[in-house]
Amino acid sequence: MSSPREDAPALLRRTAELAIDYLASLPERPVRVDHDAAAIRDALTGPLPEDGEDPLRVIEELVANAERGIVSMAGPRYFGFVIGGSLPAALAADWMTSAWDQNAGIYVGGPAASVVEEAVGAWLIELFGLPAASGFGITTGCQMANFACLAAARHAVLERAGWAVEERGLYGSPEIDVVVGEEAHATIFTALQYLGLGRERVIRVATDDQGRMRADALRAALPDGDRPLIVCLQAGNVNTGAFDPFEPTIDAVRERDSAWVHVDGAFGLWAAASPDLRPLLKGAERADSWATDGHKWLNVPYDAGFAFVADAAQHAAALAPASAAYIEYGESERDEFQWVPEYSRRARGFTAYAALRSLGRSGVREMVERCCAIARRMAERLAAADGVSVMNEVVLNQVLVRFDPPGGIDDGSFTREVTRRVQNDGTCWLSGTSWHGTTAMRVSVTNWSTTEADADRSVDAILRCAREAART
Ligand SMILES: *Cc1c(COP(=O)(O)O)cnc(C)c1O
Repeated sequence: MSSPREDAPALLRRTAELAIDYLASLPERPVRVDHDAAAIRDALTGPLPEDGEDPLRVIEELVANAERGIVSMAGPRYFGFVIGGSLPAALAADWMTSAWDQNAGIYVGGPAASVVEEAVGAWLIELFGLPAASGFGITTGCQMANFACLAAARHAVLERAGWAVEERGLYGSPEIDVVVGEEAHATIFTALQYLGLGRERVIRVATDDQGRMRADALRAALPDGDRPLIVCLQAGNVNTGAFDPFEPTIDAVRERDSAWVHVDGAFGLWAAASPDLRPLLKGAERADSWATDGHKWLNVPYDAGFAFVADAAQHAAALAPASAAYIEYGESERDEFQWVPEYSRRARGFTAYAALRSLGRSGVREMVERCCAIARRMAERLAAADGVSVMNEVVLNQVLVRFDPPGGIDDGSFTREVTRRVQNDGTCWLSGTSWHGTTAMRVSVTNWSTTEADADRSVDAILRCAREAART
């Protein structure tokens, strides 16, 4: 009998091989979702075995049996939602992260993890053009980055009103007015839900036809008086890719003393990496906090989001965990859990570190610009076809498409049918949405490996599906 320790090298080498084979298959692997959950369940479930099985067999069977339930999401023709892939360097760093298995909550849980997070924070603050002394934390995603930033906001506006929310909670606290655009992302509302600020108890500000907050509407919507106020702006609308106009909106808010401005830039903040796109973010650096994702446009594996707060003290005041006698705190070193809503945590900095070093500043710029150019190329080719309209100004990486049935105007059902056919076809995958009452197909170009050839092949498949739908 060999021991798990003796078997581990062979197991891990074989697993690396399986992973490499999978990645090699990605460019040609069908891109679709198997909706036969019963079959997937059949292949993967069963009673908990009484006795342990050979680890190599467990992994080989897991890989074989999971096959039909794995979506080619990391591949070049996945255009659904807003989904990045994994840069090779980032994936490799992710493997090392698991092998090292550091507890990156505190410095003593892994000094390299702590220092690498510092490096990533400094690089991103510079790349995004944020205030140099900003606080910084790596979260599981932009949902928790929005949460972390809005926790800092809640702390700051209540502190100015003489209320210590971390100690006393919200019982009897001054009320906070929360202002969001009509097009705020769902995770802003979830963050408000988690923070006891209420998903519904918000003031909604009208947006324009691209989903940008209207600065005049914001000005009119700001409540009178000087109550605690949090305003949430957005860089990168999840449907159109549009940016709120930061200069006039932040000007309006800055007339108030006790206001906080947060920017949700899950993918839009990455526009800062490109001199051509950067004007879309003009003024955003004057906000108080910014949230973005790593697992979208930076193309690192899940989970990676980044929270930045201009006033680092406010950031730590809101997020730092309650103290515990058994923890060894860093002295001048960074304890990562001071900046995120977690305690024990994965060493999330390594993947972003490897991604950023392997790309360099020019590589990030090139990746972002290439995705946008591919989105424009797809939009142009689609819009040139009969019965196909592009519904948004393609300012970034998002395209909204409507399909009209032959000789008619779509009531939603035809675009839905085309989307369904594309999803089943397997050439590429994208999702549907509703934009200002109109059913649309969404194209999001966010993967590091997508080429013009992938774009053309996908447009060909989309147009073929539209022709087939028209014939039935
Ligand atoms: C994706 C997204 C989020 C949420 O990010 P997660 O990484 O899924 O938590 C928030 N805001 C916007 C604009 C997004 O596109």
